[in-house]
Amino acid sequence: MANWMCSKCEVEVDKVDDIKIIYKDLDLPPASGYRCPQCSVEYIDGEYAANDLASVEEMLEGK
Ligand SMILES: [Zn+2]
Repeated sequence: MANWMCSKCEVEVDKVDDIKIIYKDLDLPPASGYRCPQCSVEYIDGEYAANDLASVEEMLEGK
């Protein structure tokens, strides 16, 4: 898999595991993803985010 690049700076992004997720009003645990060392834009790992948000939605709808 190719390294992720920041589309703005055109540099390789750093892999990090402390990305803050903002999803509605929920305070979710940090996600893994990528952060640009230059402009600090963050990219959440797609698969992880999908699984995480899906489980949150199930939890909410389960009541
Ligand atoms: Zn950047």
